[in-house]
Amino acid sequence: MSEKSYDLMSIAQQLGKPTGFGTMTCSTFYDEIKANMFPGQSAWQRIDIVNRIFKLKVDFLIEEIKDKCIFGKLIYLYYVVEFQKRGLAHIHWVMNLENKWDTPEKVDRNICAELPIELNNNVKDPILLDHVLKFMIHAPCGDHNPNAPCMKDGKCIRGFPKPWCNDTKMDEKGFTVYKRRNNGVKATIKYQGKNYEIDNRWVVPYNPYMLKKMKCHINLECVYSIMTVFYLFKYMFKGNDKALMEWHTVSGEHGADINEPKAYVDGRYLSAHESHWKLSEFPLFYSTHTVERLGFHNEGGHTVALDEDVSSDVLIQEKTDNATSKLLACFEVNNEKETGLLYEEMPQHYVWDTKSVQVKDENDKTVTKKVHYWKPRVKFTKPVVSRIYTISPKHTESFYLRTLLTELHMKLIEKQQMQEV
Ligand SMILES: [Zn+2]
Repeated sequence: MSEKSYDLMSIAQQLGKPTGFGTMTCSTFYDEIKANMFPGQSAWQRIDIVNRIFKLKVDFLIEEIKDKCIFGKLIYLYYVVEFQKRGLAHIHWVMNLENKWDTPEKVDRNICAELPIELNNNVKDPILLDHVLKFMIHAPCGDHNPNAPCMKDGKCIRGFPKPWCNDTKMDEKGFTVYKRRNNGVKATIKYQGKNYEIDNRWVVPYNPYMLKKMKCHINLECVYSIMTVFYLFKYMFKGNDKALMEWHTVSGEHGADINEPKAYVDGRYLSAHESHWKLSEFPLFYSTHTVERLGFHNEGGHTVALDEDVSSDVLIQEKTDNATSKLLACFEVNNEKETGLLYEEMPQHYVWDTKSVQVKDENDKTVTKKVHYWKPRVKFTKPVVSRIYTISPKHTESFYLRTLLTELHMKLIEKQQMQEV
C-alpha cells in the first residue's frame, strides 16, 4: 500500500497537485441491480450483481472524466477501492485538470453544497432534489442525534452542521468553505424511521451532473493547497478498518491452549463484497499513468537470483558476475549509444523487458536463459512517470549516489567516476 502512495506522490510531484478529490459509494438502489435480480431477492443476496454493477459505474465515471472530459482536459486520475464495514465498495479518486479550480467562481461552477431549491421554494429539478436528499445529506448528528457514530466529544468529526457561508471561500489553511446560504430553504428527510428537518448546512458537496448520472453518494471536493494533498493521500491509503485485539486463553493440560488457525480466521474480517471483488480480479487501484520504480545500489550491491540447485562457488560467482539490474543495464545502454539521459528519464525512451538468449552451461551444453534489458520504446500503452526509490541520508554513499543519479546524466557520472579513478 505504501508503495502505491509513493507512486501517487511521484505523479503529483511531476505532473502537479490534484485539482479535485472525490468519493463514490456503491448504492443498492441502482435500477440495474433490481432489474437483474430474481423476484423476491434482495441486494444482499446478490453480491455478485451489486459488485459488477458498481464496477461498471466506476468504469463509466472514469470514461466521463477521462474521455468525455466533463471537467475539461484531464492531466491524471488515480483511484483506490475500499470496502465499508458492512461490505459495500467505494472509491476515492484524485484528478488533476488543466483548468484549475483556483477561484471561488470556478469552484461554484463544478461543486454545489446547497439544496437544489430556489428561494421561493420552487424546485426546478425534482430528480436532482430527490438524489440530493437520498444520497448527499450527512446522516443526522449533533443535537438531532447525539449518539450518531460520527459524534466524538460532543462534536461531529466531519464538522456537520457546516457553517453558513454566503459565498464560496478558500481559507488560509488551504480548505475550501463552500457556499451554504442561510436563505430559509429547508427539506425533510427520513432517517431510521424518524423525520428530520435539514437545511443547506447538512449538504455534502456534489456535482449535479455527476450525481444525476451516477445515482449514488458521489462527493466532490476542491483541492486547493499542497497541505491538503498530504492529508488526502494519507486518507486515500489508510487501508481498510483495523482492530487491535488481545487474546485471553484458558490454559489446557500442556499450558496455553491456542488454536492459531482458528484465532486467525476469527480475527480476520473480510466481507462477502470484498471477497467477491478480489475473486473477480476487479482492480483495487487505477491510474492513468504507469509508474516505473527505479532501484539503485552501490557497486556489487544489486540483487542476484540463484537457482535452487546451484551449489558450486564457481557457478554462484558466474551468476553474480552476469546478473544485471535496471541501473547497470542503464549504464550499458549509455555505453553503447551515449543517450545522455538521466536515469529517471530512461523509462520515457526504453522499456524494461525480458529476452531469451542462448548460453553454454557448465557442461558446455547450449541452454536458453532469460535476461532483463532496456528495450527501445516503440509506443506508450499509458504515459509513464518514473520514481527512484528514496534512501535515508544516514546511508551516506547510497544517498549521494541517488543525488548524482537525479542530477547528472549517465555519461557524466561515468566520466566523473573515471576521473576519480
Ligand atoms: Zn456528523
